Amino acid sequence: MDNCIFCKIAAGEIPSSTVYEDQDFRVILDLNQGMKGHMLILPKEHYANVFEIPDPALGKAMILAKRLARAAKVGFEKAGEPLDGVNILQNNGEAAGQTVMHYHLHVLPRIKGDDSFPVWQEKSVSAEEMTKICENIKGGLEA
Ligand code: AMP
Ligand code: ZN
Repeated sequence: MDNCIFCKIAAGEIPSSTVYEDQDFRVILDLNQGMKGHMLILPKEHYANVFEIPDPALGKAMILAKRLARAAKVGFEKAGEPLDGVNILQNNGEAAGQTVMHYHLHVLPRIKGDDSFPVWQEKSVSAEEMTKICENIKGGLEA
């Protein structure tokens, strides 16, 4: 993709704080460190979102996320700054908060009491609505 900033970063055409690279992925520090150690896993191939990325690449990305989450846990602990948790998350589409339309996984080290973000507002839903929601998703699974 010609005009995709993450394609350029993943290819090394734009400098980045790279923590890991292999033939399929580059892992960089997010420019805006939501939490200290906030990383982005970028496939070198351009896929816009989870609907486009092939399953083998998706699987590799998640396995890499686990490896980087562990690396952050071990590395920060060694540095005397232990982590309390890690979020691994991923946005698809503007409505879901995606701002760069090149598939990427966020790995977010967490410290108890940090300025955590609400990902969703809790709402109570009736039993009938729960049943209907289940039916809608099950219908999609069969399609
Ligand atoms: P998302 O909102 O899931 O699409 O995440 C995009 C992320 O990319 C944001 O957290 C940005 O801070 C980050 N970002 C945007 N441009 C760059 C860049 N040039 N280098 C590193 N991170 C970036
Ligand atoms: Zn791209």
